[in-house]
Amino acid sequence: MKVPILLPNIFNHAFTYESDLDLKVGEYVVVPFGKTKITGVVWDEFEKENNKDFKVKNVLKKLDVYPLKKKTIKFLNWFSKYNIIPKGMALKLVLLSSNAIEEFQKDVYKNYILNIKKNSIKLSEEQKKSLKKMNISNQKFRVHVLQGTTGSGKTMVYFEALKNIINKGFQGLILLPEIGLTGQFEKKFLEFFGFNPAIWHSGITKKKKEIIWSGIANGEIKVVIGARSSLFLPFKNLGLIIVDEEHDQSYKQDEGVTYNARDMAISRASFENIPINLITAVPSIETYENIKKGKYSISKLKQRYQNASLPNYEIINLNEFKLEKQSWLSKKIIDKVNFHLNQNDQVLFFLNRRGFSPHVLCNKCFNSYSCPNCSINLVYHKNKNNLLCHYCGFKSSLKRACVKDADCEIIFSGPGVERISEEVKKNFPSKKIEIFSSDTMNKKDSSLKLEKIINNEVQILVGTQLISKGFHFPSLNCIVVVDIDLSSQGHDLRGAEKNLQLYHQLSGRAGRTGKPATVYFQTYNTNAKMISDLTNNNPDIFLSKELDIRRQNKLPPFERFISIILTGDNEARLEKEAFYFKIFIEKRIDGRVLGPVSAPIFRLKRKYRIRILIRGSKSLKLQNSIAEIIPKYKFSNGIKLTVDVDPINFN
Ligand SMILES: [Zn+2]
Ligand SMILES: [Zn+2]
Repeated sequence: MKVPILLPNIFNHAFTYESDLDLKVGEYVVVPFGKTKITGVVWDEFEKENNKDFKVKNVLKKLDVYPLKKKTIKFLNWFSKYNIIPKGMALKLVLLSSNAIEEFQKDVYKNYILNIKKNSIKLSEEQKKSLKKMNISNQKFRVHVLQGTTGSGKTMVYFEALKNIINKGFQGLILLPEIGLTGQFEKKFLEFFGFNPAIWHSGITKKKKEIIWSGIANGEIKVVIGARSSLFLPFKNLGLIIVDEEHDQSYKQDEGVTYNARDMAISRASFENIPINLITAVPSIETYENIKKGKYSISKLKQRYQNASLPNYEIINLNEFKLEKQSWLSKKIIDKVNFHLNQNDQVLFFLNRRGFSPHVLCNKCFNSYSCPNCSINLVYHKNKNNLLCHYCGFKSSLKRACVKDADCEIIFSGPGVERISEEVKKNFPSKKIEIFSSDTMNKKDSSLKLEKIINNEVQILVGTQLISKGFHFPSLNCIVVVDIDLSSQGHDLRGAEKNLQLYHQLSGRAGRTGKPATVYFQTYNTNAKMISDLTNNNPDIFLSKELDIRRQNKLPPFERFISIILTGDNEARLEKEAFYFKIFIEKRIDGRVLGPVSAPIFRLKRKYRIRILIRGSKSLKLQNSIAEIIPKYKFSNGIKLTVDVDPINFN
């Protein structure tokens, strides 16, 4: 008989093969493809325009693996349509590697089912009420939002909900945005459930991934805590999805196959017909709109642990408390910090810039150090003693021959966390200081560092936004925002929302154990209204205003945006081609076409970049029309096209 087999490659259709085996939809098979062998899946649909001249080959073998469920196949077909991604590439997200499947792992799940003594955790009345509301209509698809102040114990509520589901024999998936630093979270999980969750992210070993993949396919592994890609695991019996920190924009995958993992999690839950819980302190605009429309149910936690109150806010006006030359910390703030240190409070200086200085130039020729591959300034990292491109990884030393004479005379313009850390050291020489950024915390000894921070053995932290992500530092009662700059939102339609989320998450790190805490904002911008809007204990006021602005301007979530990025080596040819491409698609698609314009980062990894933005109604018609038109346009050699549905990053 003839069978359709989808292969994990760039094709948008299944290939037709011949087989005597009794093959059913979802079963894994090995087939010849060109000169190689490849693992594919029996799909639910044949190729529409079947090429009759093509010689039909035989399936080589069927694999002894629990088949992919029909619901999952339906989800993948939809996923491919929505994100304008070939079906084969969607399957690739599931298959991970053909190797994992051929060597199906058995009897190695002990670590994940081992039961140890559990802590008994008592929920507060408020938590119990939320849990009850969360568990309503748990036997079918529905979206529930648990909105709770930072430190209000949201995790315990959804752990209880998950326990309930596992006890009924189902599997659960917890999605987290920053999966690199899950140590604290895993510990909490183990204490609550008495067994280890399977941790899934790009950093874990291939061997471990194979074990987890198999354990999920045969239903032995009960809970996965994972990054975006865990959404494509072949769960045998998924019963609940939880998206923690649902507002976090790192759920958006914007390189390679682009998709928003939060949104795709919601649609996977819908295809599986299971409940999904979104957890947040401040919902994303999209989620907030769905709550307002009554599409999502919601419960709220307002009390913090041990009745801790939220931090106070204080603005340090830098026009009044002038900074000295080459200094970024005012006298006023040093006094404030001293006050906190004397009370054994931990202090955090926040600046969202890695390295020592974001802009390095020469005092004689005034040439900046910029990346030869990207239109971006190189950042000086003093610890590594090099200049680094944060986009392509290019490195160079600080020494450079000057066009004037001899060597360049270096000036560092502006601070990064390393530079602030030096200034902090000068002011507080007896204190232990630690930099908290992706350069210092993604290493092997990071859990040791975390332990020291938690125990207040480190008195002062200097951190980037990495620190705003879900950490619990009991003694942290003072946060200094070195430079709150609200003006640089420029081309980013989500600028205001991003700031709201960032400062809300950040201040949520402070005052978690009941002691009074304060967040200080150093700023030249004395628009106090803006800061008080951002830090208001009721974020709904800000969200509802922001939603009005989006509605008036027909921005997402009221319209759909689709970005098309064209890249190429030759600037002139790319510009011309982008122009022709726009004319070609304009009359043939179901939306409005804006651009082409040079991308804000015009050159990236040696490629020039041009953006086209398509705006249209929120229906799959828009995607379908784009998917149909793109293959009909013949790009000249070397020009590449990327589609990004619901873009978040407009670089
Ligand atoms: Zn670069
Ligand atoms: Zn020079």
